[in-house]
Amino acid sequence: MTVVTDTTEPVGILGGSGLYRLLDAPEPVAVATPFGDPSDPPSRGTFAGRPVVFLPRHGADHRFPPHRVNYRANLWALRSLGVRQVVAASAVGGLRPELTAGTVVVPDQVVDRTWGREHTVYDGEGPVVHVPFADPYCPRGRPVAVRAARAGTLPAVDGGTMVVIQGPRFSSRAESRRNAAEGGSVVGMTGMPEAAIARELALCYTSLALVTDADAGVDVESSVTHAAVLEAFARNVVALTAVLHDVVAALPADDDCPCRHVLDGLDLPASVAGP
Ligand SMILES: [Zn+2]
Repeated sequence: MTVVTDTTEPVGILGGSGLYRLLDAPEPVAVATPFGDPSDPPSRGTFAGRPVVFLPRHGADHRFPPHRVNYRANLWALRSLGVRQVVAASAVGGLRPELTAGTVVVPDQVVDRTWGREHTVYDGEGPVVHVPFADPYCPRGRPVAVRAARAGTLPAVDGGTMVVIQGPRFSSRAESRRNAAEGGSVVGMTGMPEAAIARELALCYTSLALVTDADAGVDVESSVTHAAVLEAFARNVVALTAVLHDVVAALPADDDCPCRHVLDGLDLPASVAGP
């Protein structure tokens, strides 16, 4: 049963490479977190008729490479501004021939190949917290994103495994082949620990991944460059923003989702925001 209907709760939107601005009249809000500053002050505003908080994960001037993004501060900042649902846009490489540039993938699984990143908010004194992560993405946000993507102008794919590499370099051909052989659909550099930290903060988290390239060129001679990624993203950013608009408009506005209740009943460190 739907208990709460709250249309004032803001939806959090994380912009990736190529999506640094979204709102017409952004209102930046300085937020302090226990983990330092987010990539930029998040911006409050209205998008798709709903209150939102937008944060470009690399900073508006793209100054943070994937391994330097303060994922903990970014998500903590969104949560402290009342966000409970996050839509995360990112540019990814396609590991399957059918996932050509301009395809929107709504992944349902993730493989974390990053290292050396601050990957948990539960690393201080206090009770040990293990959150479930078998299904890394929000079970209610994902179908909404799939419907919105399918209604848009770009090819859309429901499901797939996002392999998250450390970067900032791209993959070798052998790495790309391995990622594909092990079941990967797309490869990115920011999907983790972002998705896991979102879960740790009881946030609904839905990934909207735009394919910009064929990674190391599994079956083609060319390989990806940063310029090519940005160029492909720029070519599709209007269509992706339209999808994002429809996702935000259609996200449920109640607190029924299991993501929000993942911390219920757990003994949490005092420093962590409760459910
Ligand atoms: Zn959820």
